[in-house]
Amino acid sequence: MRRLRQSDLEAYLDEALPPEEMARVELALRKDRELVRRLAAIHARRDAGVHTLGEIWRRHRLTCPTRDQLGNYLLGAMPREAADYVDFHLRVIGCRWCQASLTDLERQQAETQEVTQVRRRKFFQSSAGYLRPE
Ligand SMILES: [Zn+2]
Repeated sequence: MRRLRQSDLEAYLDEALPPEEMARVELALRKDRELVRRLAAIHARRDAGVHTLGEIWRRHRLTCPTRDQLGNYLLGAMPREAADYVDFHLRVIGCRWCQASLTDLERQQAETQEVTQVRRRKFFQSSAGYLRPE
């Protein structure tokens, strides 16, 4: 396999490679920690030079999973490959919007769980009342 050049990684970050090349870089990234470091370095350098929110937005949003997908990711209700992609997007690309969405979803889920638990407890308390022998 041809060694990946800096320009390949740049293009990868821009989503500017044909799909099979994107897949090839992704595969290489999974096997090669050094490559991940190089990619992270490019990303960090670009980040430092980016001044407008619009630029960051355009750059990141292209590959962002939807909120539904993030929800499924959180619940572990996502096919392995898709979950890997979200993982990669969050941890390696470090997408701030998705990280923020995920935090928001986690908070929502925690609240929902609390409401459910209270409701369940009330239900069982009242049922227990009915079921208690006279
Ligand atoms: Zn994102």
